[in-house]
Amino acid sequence: MNEFLLTPIEYLKGVGPQRANLLKQELSINNFEELLNYFPFRYVDRSFFCKINEIPLQESATQFKGIVTKMKEGGKGRSKTLSVFVEDETGTIELIWFQGVSWVKNLILLGSTYQIFGKAKVYKSTLKIAHPEITLWSPNNLIKGFQPVYSSTEKLSANGLGTRGIEKIISTLVEQIKNKIPEVLSKSIISEINCISYEEALIKVHAPKTEQEISQALYRLKFNELFYLQLEMLLRKNHSITKRKGFIFPNIGKAFSQFYEDCLPFELTNAQKKVLKEIRKDFLTGKHMNRLLQGDVGSGKTLVALLTCLIAIGNGFQAAIMAPTEILANQHFESITKLISQLPIEVALLTGSTKKSRRVEVHEKLLSGQIHLLIGTHALLENTVQFQNLGIVVIDEQHRFGVAQRATMWKKNSIPPHVLIMTATPIPRTLAMTFYGDLDVSIIDELPPGRKPITTIHRFENHRLRLFGFLKEQIKIGRQIYIVYPLIQESEKLDFANLIEGFEAISRSFPLPEYRVSIVHGKMKGEEKDFEMQRFIKGETQIMVATTVIEVGVNVPNASVMVIESAERFGLSQLHQLRGRVGRGAEKSYCILMTGQKLSNESKIRLETMEQTNDGFEIAEVDLKLRGPGDLLGTQQSGILDLKVADISKDQQLVIYARSIVKKLLQDDADISMRENILIRNKISVILKSKPNWGKIS
Ligand code: ADP
Ligand code: MG
Repeated sequence: MNEFLLTPIEYLKGVGPQRANLLKQELSINNFEELLNYFPFRYVDRSFFCKINEIPLQESATQFKGIVTKMKEGGKGRSKTLSVFVEDETGTIELIWFQGVSWVKNLILLGSTYQIFGKAKVYKSTLKIAHPEITLWSPNNLIKGFQPVYSSTEKLSANGLGTRGIEKIISTLVEQIKNKIPEVLSKSIISEINCISYEEALIKVHAPKTEQEISQALYRLKFNELFYLQLEMLLRKNHSITKRKGFIFPNIGKAFSQFYEDCLPFELTNAQKKVLKEIRKDFLTGKHMNRLLQGDVGSGKTLVALLTCLIAIGNGFQAAIMAPTEILANQHFESITKLISQLPIEVALLTGSTKKSRRVEVHEKLLSGQIHLLIGTHALLENTVQFQNLGIVVIDEQHRFGVAQRATMWKKNSIPPHVLIMTATPIPRTLAMTFYGDLDVSIIDELPPGRKPITTIHRFENHRLRLFGFLKEQIKIGRQIYIVYPLIQESEKLDFANLIEGFEAISRSFPLPEYRVSIVHGKMKGEEKDFEMQRFIKGETQIMVATTVIEVGVNVPNASVMVIESAERFGLSQLHQLRGRVGRGAEKSYCILMTGQKLSNESKIRLETMEQTNDGFEIAEVDLKLRGPGDLLGTQQSGILDLKVADISKDQQLVIYARSIVKKLLQDDADISMRENILIRNKISVILKSKPNWGKIS
């Protein structure tokens, strides 16, 4: 490893032990390399001077030059202000200080020319600049090019390491790095992607002269980051494929064939068939399956899960399906029990509400192998739940489960069971590559036939009477309706009050005996929820008032209207999930998004996107752009999204490109042992050493 780069930061001129400690504590910067990798988050253009009459309003700061023609103090005592008027051949502008008035006043000389840098704003109907940077003009102290802006912290700023202080120490370092930074990509890749050297990129990112230099540097650094991320992913994936043993299920098995021939309620879609083939192939390899199944809401993932479990069972193994909520686990249990009622297969349900005596019985039967298929919630993860020979775990609606929980399922056998993770929140391709780059991905990209697209409409509160009229018409023709209220943790109490109030208002507007209304929310006991849910499923109630507990997976084909209250408060993927509760039968379905009048721009985009498309993948793309990748997955489960320069939502093309380059590299040199790839080998081995266990998860 390069000694220069590993030099402790206190040895840099202008740093010293005290600041070095602060840099360590506040920014985790310990050595030269880490400091060089502390990139500016933006730049200000100091490459030219603007004319005063062309100073843009509300832009980022501008630089200009002018003579001070007048100074004027205003206000009194603490509210004293200083106005300085500056003029060039095109006009005059007022600079204004609200603090440090006398200090600034002493500094500025009437009649001298100054170089000024600041952000113009309209104050009291004239254009002014408050607290600009102002320096006596001289051709020698001109700042040329683009000035980097670094983020800093309060503590650092108090010790002279605000953005300017950081700029200073970094530029001291950058002046010394010429010919000292080893390259980290091979010659052939550098020429293929047509980029500047690593050293040049580090110089230019911190001290660019032109806009082009910034983009050259960023291109190179982003590529680096994404290249090594993808390389890490693909190496881990190859590693797990070749090294990790998994059960072989040699036969399609009796359970599967019998079900397929006698019980299958409808022809599988081509997409379902394709995915089953992929899974079946995994089962023959003797390697551990770690597969992510993506499919839009309503695409029929449950059936794929069941068929997958039947293959395991037909080969003499047990299977488990894990769902994120009790409602969903119950529903899977019921529909699956019904589907396979003719088969000699024992299915059991295990959730938080399972009675103690039943629980003990289930535990015993799992150990003895009497239970073939276990369906449940987190309860499956408890230590007391042991299997005789668990062959596969299907995890439904994956993003609700943390990595740690998935790892627990792993430990239930000496050879880990195969894992199929199903997610109904489609993930944009680039994000999947980044986040699940080490999993195999199957996609169901087709809905079962006969579905009519759901009509989505955004309405304001003043439309409520007409909305209720419409709902009554729908009920008259035999349909059922969901009305969903937000329940968000921060304002749980208030939300709950809204829900109850809404329920009461709806009960008044839809009176008995003609109408019957169910309610389901998180504060109810499991049994109560289930009771209400069942009434709705059986059609005994026509309206289901609920919080987002019904978001995931609930399946009532006769429900054809989804009303979402305060829709502006839901995220896109949640809205899409909720909408997916309707449009499951053959009837024309509607989703009505109710909002207040005041909407943020982002809410408007979300509502419009919902109105315009039913495609979960398209929605996921918009969501990625609006929210960024971390939030999208609703989890900070690993550090891999901590990219320094690249941004998965903005640099999608580059993610794909980097992956393709990595793939090509591994095709030619699978273990990166060729001489020309030595630089890459060195770098990746450092990376892999720093995160040893990461690949074991999921
Ligand atoms: P999701 O992928 O959201 O979990 P489900 O598995 O709940 O979707 O399936 C949604 C609905 O589609 C269910 O009512 C299911 O019975 C039905 N379905 C699944 N596969 C098919 C198919 N091949 N043809 C017709 N209907 C199907
Ligand atoms: Mg589902």
